[in-house]
Amino acid sequence: MSFSIHGQAVSRGIVVGRAVLVAAGRMDVAHYFIEPAQVTSELQRIAKARDVVVNEIEQVKLKLTHAPATDAPSELTALLDVHLMLLQDETIAHGVREWIVERRYNAEWALTSQLEIISRQFDEMEDPYLRERKADLEQVVQRMLASMAGESASLLEQAKQAAQVAQFSGNSSAASERVPLILIARDLSPADLLQFKDSVFAGFITEVGGKTSHTAIVARGLNIVAVVGARSASQLIKQDDWVVIDGDAGVVIVEPSPIILEEYGFKQREGTLERERLRRLRHTPSVTLDGQHVKLFANIELPQDSAAAVAAGAVGVGLFRTEFLFMSRVSKGMSKLPDEDEQYAAYKEALDGMQGLPVTIRTIDIGADKPLERGSRSGDEHLNPALGLRAIRWSLAEPTMFLVQLRAILRAAVNGQVDLLIPMLAHVSEIKQTLALIKRAKDQLDDQGVAYGSVRVGAMIEVPAAAMMAQVFLRYFDFLSIGTNDLIQYTLAVDRVDEAVSHLYDPLHPAVLSLMSQVINACKAQGKDVSVCGEMAGDTQCTALLLGMGLRSFSMQPTQILAVKQQVLRAHTGELAVWAADVLASEEPSELVALR
Ligand code: PEP
Ligand code: MG
Repeated sequence: MSFSIHGQAVSRGIVVGRAVLVAAGRMDVAHYFIEPAQVTSELQRIAKARDVVVNEIEQVKLKLTHAPATDAPSELTALLDVHLMLLQDETIAHGVREWIVERRYNAEWALTSQLEIISRQFDEMEDPYLRERKADLEQVVQRMLASMAGESASLLEQAKQAAQVAQFSGNSSAASERVPLILIARDLSPADLLQFKDSVFAGFITEVGGKTSHTAIVARGLNIVAVVGARSASQLIKQDDWVVIDGDAGVVIVEPSPIILEEYGFKQREGTLERERLRRLRHTPSVTLDGQHVKLFANIELPQDSAAAVAAGAVGVGLFRTEFLFMSRVSKGMSKLPDEDEQYAAYKEALDGMQGLPVTIRTIDIGADKPLERGSRSGDEHLNPALGLRAIRWSLAEPTMFLVQLRAILRAAVNGQVDLLIPMLAHVSEIKQTLALIKRAKDQLDDQGVAYGSVRVGAMIEVPAAAMMAQVFLRYFDFLSIGTNDLIQYTLAVDRVDEAVSHLYDPLHPAVLSLMSQVINACKAQGKDVSVCGEMAGDTQCTALLLGMGLRSFSMQPTQILAVKQQVLRAHTGELAVWAADVLASEEPSELVALR
């Protein structure tokens, strides 16, 4: 029977496909399609992993039989017997085999897919003893995955590459019949999403997360159709169910009827036409009807994203979120932090990619929903991670690391125009410490005789305190950039990643607009640049209002640039300024914006 689940619309578009449930913490499991010729070897990998684990358990059991009775409680032997039984269970083996043979999933993916199915059956069992055996099954699967991961890594890579080459060269018999796959998970970290680009998934649904969570932002950047905050999705959706993600409405339809499918097929075609229409605006100058030039910059997460920024016609990068260079390194077997040369290379790559256009590099904004390592989400350890040691607070607490980053950015500035942007400042003491460290980084480079370029230094306005002190900030900085994602979160005391309060997350709240207006006016009065780089800049519902408030510089995910440009081309800023004054004076600005 068809049913729908409502969540948050984070990334536009529609995708119809089959559900793949991925348990928390299993995003690391490789997901790729194999070629028919690889089926036998994948079955062998599974069989080998099972034999290895069976053997390990037999060995442990053997040791236990020779150990003194006190050291070897009988429960332990019984437990090992359960593990052996699960390893030899025919239903599990049969299911795994089917995923490999019928669907051409790689061995690890087949194993975890079957695990999801059996886990649910355990969940539904009435007998608590049997229900608890789910944990044993998970352990057994974990052991098999570990055994497979221990195989020669190059062999695994070879298998993946063989599958990819065949698919891209059109040799894959399965490629043409393949249906899109939709990942369903309780939560995904922003770092998980970066792996999405090369993955088999066409969209995802998570149970947690808000519209401006970093996971949602990355999804928009990668143009992945997604819905977040779809509560209970991983309970209600079953492995392999047919699912429609309506990324425009934030709705998920499970097991859609033929009529619903037809309707969504139509919407999909409309979406494609709309994107084609927008593409024609790529070279059109971004100028309003009354001749005002509006700069549309791109937000990027990795240096390679500069290609998408240029392709979308961005006039530069308005926000390079450098923390993505720092995330999930240890789990990928890299050093904990990138060293100065590695960072320099990344910043230079972004500059080169932008082909002479300016790049605004923001210093690391780690913490809250962007932990350094997967599973170490600050929220698990701290009650209020968003109010804790994140962004500039983290950098100032780790001055050695911060100096490495500052030196790398300054050195990169030899290769093009770099603006240095500092996140989440609130105190004059933080401003002074930051500027002193920038000076120290320059002194260190001078001492070493290393060349560096000149940079403009700007501050992000993300905390109400900073917005209210814009005049003071302007004494120290060359430009300001309003980070509305955090400014809204901190002004309204609404956690941007908590779907339970997402209805209160309101970009058009009078207090938010008033703070933004103060910042824009303060910059204009002093002839300094100001931009908005939060998600509001890429929200076409807000373009007219921001233009009316005097904003002329927007920075957003490259995927939003052309849609915002379309709004700019239709705008008359003189008329919008009059209207915006009314909106700013209103108790309920969203009503006026909706009426326009
Ligand atoms: C913001 O807060 O608006 C912003 C652009 O920074 P981030 O989304 O990375 O916190
Ligand atoms: Mg921010």
